[in-house]
Amino acid sequence: MFDDDATPIAALNHAGMTFARASRPHPDGPPKLRAETVNFWYGEKHALIDVDLEIQAGETTAFIGPSGCGKSTFLKCLNRMQDNVRGGRMTGTILMDGDDIYSEAVDPPVHRRRFGWVAQKPNPFPWSVHENVAYGPRIHGLSQSAADEAERVERSLRRTGLWEELKDRLDAPGTELSGGQQQRLCIARALSVEPEVLLMDEPCGSLDPISTETIEALIQELTADPASTLAIVLITHNMEQAARVAQQTAFFKLGRMLEKGPTAALFAAPQTDDCADYLAGKFG
Ligand code: ADP
Ligand code: MG
Repeated sequence: MFDDDATPIAALNHAGMTFARASRPHPDGPPKLRAETVNFWYGEKHALIDVDLEIQAGETTAFIGPSGCGKSTFLKCLNRMQDNVRGGRMTGTILMDGDDIYSEAVDPPVHRRRFGWVAQKPNPFPWSVHENVAYGPRIHGLSQSAADEAERVERSLRRTGLWEELKDRLDAPGTELSGGQQQRLCIARALSVEPEVLLMDEPCGSLDPISTETIEALIQELTADPASTLAIVLITHNMEQAARVAQQTAFFKLGRMLEKGPTAALFAAPQTDDCADYLAGKFG
Protein backbone atom coordinates (compact mmCIF):
# COMPACT_ATOMS: atom_id res chain seq x y z
CA MET A 1 0.00 0.00 0.00
CA PHE A 2 2.91 2.33 0.74
CA ASP A 3 5.34 0.94 -1.81
CA ASP A 4 4.61 3.73 -4.26
CA ASP A 5 5.98 6.26 -1.84
CA ALA A 6 8.82 4.27 -0.38
CA THR A 7 12.35 4.97 -1.48
CA PRO A 8 14.38 1.81 -1.96
CA ILE A 9 17.18 2.07 0.56
CA ALA A 10 19.64 0.53 -1.88
CA ALA A 11 19.68 3.91 -3.56
CA LEU A 12 20.84 5.30 -0.22
CA ASN A 13 23.40 2.63 0.41
CA HIS A 14 21.42 0.81 3.09
CA ALA A 15 20.65 -2.43 1.29
CA GLY A 16 17.51 -4.11 2.54
CA MET A 17 15.97 -1.10 4.29
CA THR A 18 12.90 0.80 3.20
CA PHE A 19 12.23 4.45 3.85
CA ALA A 20 8.98 6.27 4.46
CA ARG A 21 7.80 8.86 1.98
CA ALA A 22 9.72 12.11 2.22
CA SER A 23 8.41 15.17 4.05
CA ARG A 24 6.00 17.31 2.13
CA PRO A 25 7.11 20.94 1.91
CA HIS A 26 6.62 22.43 5.35
CA PRO A 27 4.04 25.20 5.43
CA ASP A 28 4.99 28.79 6.08
CA GLY A 29 4.41 29.91 9.63
CA PRO A 30 5.49 28.35 12.88
CA PRO A 31 6.08 24.60 13.17
CA LYS A 32 3.60 22.55 15.21
CA LEU A 33 6.09 22.40 18.08
CA ARG A 34 9.35 24.19 18.59
CA ALA A 35 11.70 23.64 21.52
CA GLU A 36 14.29 26.28 22.30
CA THR A 37 17.15 25.51 24.68
CA VAL A 38 15.11 23.08 26.73
CA ASN A 39 16.78 21.74 29.87
CA PHE A 40 15.27 19.36 32.38
CA TRP A 41 16.51 18.18 35.74
CA TYR A 42 15.32 15.39 38.03
CA GLY A 43 16.82 16.74 41.23
CA GLU A 44 20.55 16.80 40.51
CA LYS A 45 20.19 14.68 37.38
CA HIS A 46 20.50 16.87 34.29
CA ALA A 47 18.34 14.82 31.91
CA LEU A 48 17.91 17.25 29.00
CA ILE A 49 20.61 19.67 27.92
CA ASP A 50 19.93 22.60 25.57
CA VAL A 51 17.53 20.76 23.28
CA ASP A 52 16.49 22.71 20.19
CA LEU A 53 14.04 20.90 17.96
CA GLU A 54 11.15 21.54 15.59
CA ILE A 55 8.30 19.15 14.92
CA GLN A 56 6.09 19.60 11.88
CA ALA A 57 2.44 18.74 11.37
CA GLY A 58 1.38 16.13 8.82
CA GLU A 59 4.33 13.83 9.34
CA THR A 60 6.13 11.56 11.77
CA THR A 61 9.27 12.49 13.68
CA ALA A 62 11.22 9.61 15.22
CA PHE A 63 13.39 9.97 18.33
CA ILE A 64 16.23 7.47 18.44
CA GLY A 65 19.17 7.03 20.76
CA PRO A 66 20.39 4.80 23.58
CA SER A 67 18.33 4.18 26.71
CA GLY A 68 18.41 6.90 29.32
CA CYS A 69 19.31 9.70 26.89
CA GLY A 70 16.19 11.79 27.60
CA LYS A 71 13.80 10.81 24.81
CA SER A 72 10.82 10.08 27.07
CA THR A 73 11.59 13.10 29.24
CA PHE A 74 11.49 15.37 26.23
CA LEU A 75 8.26 13.77 24.95
CA LYS A 76 6.59 14.42 28.29
CA CYS A 77 7.76 18.04 28.34
CA LEU A 78 5.79 18.54 25.12
CA ASN A 79 2.41 17.67 26.65
CA ARG A 80 3.30 18.91 30.14
CA MET A 81 3.13 15.45 31.64
CA GLN A 82 6.36 16.37 33.43
CA ASP A 83 4.73 19.23 35.35
CA ASN A 84 4.26 17.29 38.54
CA VAL A 85 7.32 15.05 38.54
CA ARG A 86 8.98 15.18 41.96
CA GLY A 87 12.13 17.25 41.89
CA GLY A 88 11.55 18.07 38.24
CA ARG A 89 12.59 21.43 36.83
CA MET A 90 12.51 22.67 33.27
CA THR A 91 14.03 25.73 31.63
CA GLY A 92 13.79 26.92 28.05
CA THR A 93 10.80 27.46 25.81
CA ILE A 94 8.39 25.20 23.97
CA LEU A 95 6.09 26.79 21.43
CA MET A 96 3.01 25.16 19.94
CA ASP A 97 1.74 26.88 16.80
CA GLY A 98 3.96 29.74 17.92
CA ASP A 99 2.53 30.05 21.44
CA ASP A 100 4.46 29.34 24.65
CA ILE A 101 2.92 26.21 26.17
CA TYR A 102 4.34 27.04 29.62
CA SER A 103 2.83 30.53 29.70
CA GLU A 104 0.53 31.34 32.62
CA ALA A 105 -2.35 31.66 30.16
CA VAL A 106 -2.17 27.94 29.41
CA ASP A 107 -4.23 25.53 31.50
CA PRO A 108 -2.23 22.27 31.60
CA PRO A 109 -5.24 19.89 31.32
CA VAL A 110 -6.51 21.86 28.33
CA HIS A 111 -3.04 21.72 26.80
CA ARG A 112 -2.79 17.95 27.38
CA ARG A 113 -6.03 17.44 25.52
CA ARG A 114 -4.31 18.53 22.33
CA PHE A 115 -2.16 15.38 22.55
CA GLY A 116 -2.72 11.67 22.33
CA TRP A 117 -0.41 9.36 24.27
CA VAL A 118 0.44 5.77 23.42
CA ALA A 119 2.61 3.81 25.86
CA GLN A 120 4.92 0.89 25.26
CA LYS A 121 2.61 -1.65 26.83
CA PRO A 122 -0.96 -1.67 25.53
CA ASN A 123 -3.08 -0.42 28.43
CA PRO A 124 -6.76 -0.56 27.45
CA PHE A 125 -9.26 0.24 30.17
CA PRO A 126 -10.90 -2.93 31.58
CA TRP A 127 -14.07 -2.07 29.70
CA SER A 128 -15.63 -2.89 26.35
CA VAL A 129 -14.08 -1.90 23.03
CA HIS A 130 -16.81 0.72 22.61
CA GLU A 131 -16.30 2.18 26.09
CA ASN A 132 -12.54 2.42 25.60
CA VAL A 133 -12.97 4.67 22.59
CA ALA A 134 -16.13 6.51 23.73
CA TYR A 135 -14.70 7.57 27.09
CA GLY A 136 -12.44 10.43 25.95
CA PRO A 137 -14.99 12.22 23.77
CA ARG A 138 -17.57 11.76 26.54
CA ILE A 139 -15.51 13.30 29.36
CA HIS A 140 -14.40 16.11 27.07
CA GLY A 141 -18.01 16.83 26.14
CA LEU A 142 -17.44 16.13 22.46
CA SER A 143 -20.23 13.60 22.00
CA GLN A 144 -23.58 15.31 21.48
CA SER A 145 -25.74 12.17 21.45
CA ALA A 146 -25.57 8.39 21.53
CA ALA A 147 -25.60 8.37 17.73
CA ASP A 148 -22.79 10.91 17.63
CA GLU A 149 -20.80 8.84 20.12
CA ALA A 150 -21.30 5.68 18.04
CA GLU A 151 -20.13 7.55 14.97
CA ARG A 152 -17.02 8.81 16.75
CA VAL A 153 -16.20 5.31 17.95
CA GLU A 154 -16.62 3.94 14.44
CA ARG A 155 -14.45 6.69 12.93
CA SER A 156 -11.61 6.07 15.40
CA LEU A 157 -11.80 2.30 14.95
CA ARG A 158 -11.77 2.74 11.17
CA ARG A 159 -8.68 4.97 11.37
CA THR A 160 -6.86 2.21 13.22
CA GLY A 161 -8.09 -0.56 10.94
CA LEU A 162 -10.07 -2.21 13.74
CA TRP A 163 -13.61 -1.55 12.58
CA GLU A 164 -13.98 -4.53 10.24
CA GLU A 165 -12.35 -6.81 12.83
CA LEU A 166 -14.36 -5.63 15.81
CA LYS A 167 -17.63 -4.10 14.64
CA ASP A 168 -19.54 -7.19 15.82
CA ARG A 169 -17.62 -7.32 19.11
CA LEU A 170 -17.91 -3.76 20.37
CA ASP A 171 -19.12 -5.12 23.70
CA ALA A 172 -16.14 -7.44 24.13
CA PRO A 173 -13.63 -6.43 26.82
CA GLY A 174 -10.69 -4.52 25.32
CA THR A 175 -8.35 -6.54 27.50
CA GLU A 176 -9.35 -9.76 25.71
CA LEU A 177 -8.05 -8.65 22.33
CA SER A 178 -4.68 -9.74 20.95
CA GLY A 179 -1.68 -7.59 21.90
CA GLY A 180 -1.59 -5.88 18.51
CA GLN A 181 -5.34 -5.24 18.57
CA GLN A 182 -5.04 -3.84 22.10
CA GLN A 183 -2.38 -1.40 20.97
CA ARG A 184 -4.50 -0.35 17.98
CA LEU A 185 -7.41 0.09 20.39
CA CYS A 186 -5.20 2.35 22.53
CA ILE A 187 -4.31 4.35 19.42
CA ALA A 188 -8.03 4.57 18.53
CA ARG A 189 -8.67 5.79 22.08
CA ALA A 190 -5.93 8.40 21.71
CA LEU A 191 -7.32 9.55 18.35
CA SER A 192 -10.93 9.66 19.54
CA VAL A 193 -10.49 13.16 20.98
CA GLU A 194 -8.95 14.37 17.73
CA PRO A 195 -5.55 15.34 19.07
CA GLU A 196 -3.23 17.59 17.10
CA VAL A 197 -0.18 15.59 18.15
CA LEU A 198 0.16 11.87 18.78
CA LEU A 199 3.02 10.97 21.13
CA MET A 200 4.11 7.33 21.00
CA ASP A 201 6.74 6.05 23.44
CA GLU A 202 8.04 2.78 21.97
CA PRO A 203 4.54 1.66 20.93
CA CYS A 204 5.79 -1.62 19.47
CA GLY A 205 8.19 -2.35 22.32
CA SER A 206 6.08 -5.19 23.66
CA LEU A 207 4.59 -6.48 20.40
CA ASP A 208 5.41 -9.43 18.15
CA PRO A 209 6.73 -8.75 14.61
CA ILE A 210 3.35 -9.18 12.88
CA SER A 211 1.59 -6.76 15.26
CA THR A 212 4.52 -4.39 14.90
CA GLU A 213 4.05 -4.39 11.13
CA THR A 214 0.37 -3.55 11.57
CA ILE A 215 1.17 -0.63 13.88
CA GLU A 216 3.84 0.66 11.50
CA ALA A 217 1.38 0.55 8.60
CA LEU A 218 -1.10 2.40 10.76
CA ILE A 219 1.43 5.11 11.65
CA GLN A 220 2.18 5.59 7.95
CA GLU A 221 -1.52 5.69 7.12
CA LEU A 222 -2.30 8.36 9.73
CA THR A 223 -0.36 11.03 7.84
CA ALA A 224 -0.73 9.57 4.33
CA ASP A 225 -3.50 11.98 3.36
CA PRO A 226 -1.78 15.19 2.22
CA ALA A 227 -4.52 17.07 4.07
CA SER A 228 -3.59 15.43 7.39
CA THR A 229 -2.35 17.91 9.97
CA LEU A 230 -1.59 15.31 12.66
CA ALA A 231 1.96 15.46 13.99
CA ILE A 232 3.29 12.13 15.25
CA VAL A 233 6.31 11.81 17.51
CA LEU A 234 7.56 8.24 17.84
CA ILE A 235 10.26 6.99 20.17
CA THR A 236 11.76 3.76 18.89
CA HIS A 237 14.77 1.55 19.45
CA ASN A 238 14.19 -0.04 16.09
CA MET A 239 16.18 1.81 13.43
CA GLU A 240 14.40 0.02 10.59
CA GLN A 241 11.13 1.18 12.10
CA ALA A 242 12.29 4.80 12.18
CA ALA A 243 13.34 4.47 8.54
CA ARG A 244 10.05 2.90 7.48
CA VAL A 245 7.64 5.32 9.14
CA ALA A 246 9.35 8.62 9.97
CA GLN A 247 9.88 11.58 7.67
CA GLN A 248 12.26 13.16 10.18
CA THR A 249 14.56 11.56 12.73
CA ALA A 250 16.23 13.12 15.77
CA PHE A 251 19.15 11.41 17.49
CA PHE A 252 19.56 11.86 21.26
CA LYS A 253 22.56 10.99 23.39
CA LEU A 254 23.24 11.75 27.06
CA GLY A 255 20.48 14.35 27.27
CA ARG A 256 21.42 16.18 24.11
CA MET A 257 19.66 16.16 20.76
CA LEU A 258 22.76 15.83 18.66
CA GLU A 259 21.36 15.65 15.19
CA LYS A 260 18.08 15.88 13.32
CA GLY A 261 17.11 15.69 9.68
CA PRO A 262 15.07 13.97 7.01
CA THR A 263 15.30 10.30 7.94
CA ALA A 264 16.82 9.04 4.70
CA ALA A 265 19.47 11.78 4.73
CA LEU A 266 20.32 11.20 8.39
CA PHE A 267 20.74 7.47 7.77
CA ALA A 268 22.75 7.97 4.59
CA ALA A 269 25.06 10.64 5.94
CA PRO A 270 24.96 11.20 9.69
CA GLN A 271 26.73 14.41 10.65
CA THR A 272 28.12 13.27 13.98
CA ASP A 273 30.33 10.29 14.82
CA ASP A 274 27.97 9.43 17.70
CA CYS A 275 24.98 9.13 15.39
CA ALA A 276 26.98 7.18 12.80
CA ASP A 277 28.17 4.76 15.48
CA TYR A 278 24.66 4.37 16.86
CA LEU A 279 23.19 3.67 13.41
CA ALA A 280 25.98 1.17 12.82
CA GLY A 281 24.98 -0.62 16.02
CA LYS A 282 28.21 0.17 17.85
CA PHE A 283 26.34 1.08 21.01
CA GLY A 284 22.77 0.62 22.10
P1 ADP B 1 14.99 7.52 27.52
O1 ADP B 1 13.53 7.65 27.29
O2 ADP B 1 15.83 8.07 26.41
O3 ADP B 1 15.38 6.10 27.84
P2 ADP B 1 14.46 9.05 29.94
O4 ADP B 1 13.94 10.35 29.47
O5 ADP B 1 13.49 8.06 30.46
O6 ADP B 1 15.38 8.40 28.80
O7 ADP B 1 15.52 9.30 31.10
C1 ADP B 1 16.57 10.25 31.00
C2 ADP B 1 17.38 10.22 32.26
O8 ADP B 1 16.61 10.71 33.34
C3 ADP B 1 17.84 8.82 32.66
O9 ADP B 1 19.12 8.92 33.23
C4 ADP B 1 16.83 8.42 33.71
O10 ADP B 1 17.37 7.51 34.63
C5 ADP B 1 16.50 9.74 34.37
N1 ADP B 1 15.11 9.76 34.87
C6 ADP B 1 13.99 9.51 34.16
N2 ADP B 1 12.88 9.64 34.92
C7 ADP B 1 13.32 9.98 36.16
C8 ADP B 1 12.67 10.26 37.40
N3 ADP B 1 11.33 10.24 37.53
N4 ADP B 1 13.45 10.57 38.46
C9 ADP B 1 14.79 10.61 38.35
N5 ADP B 1 15.47 10.37 37.21
C10 ADP B 1 14.75 10.05 36.13
MG1 MG C 1 12.09 6.17 27.33
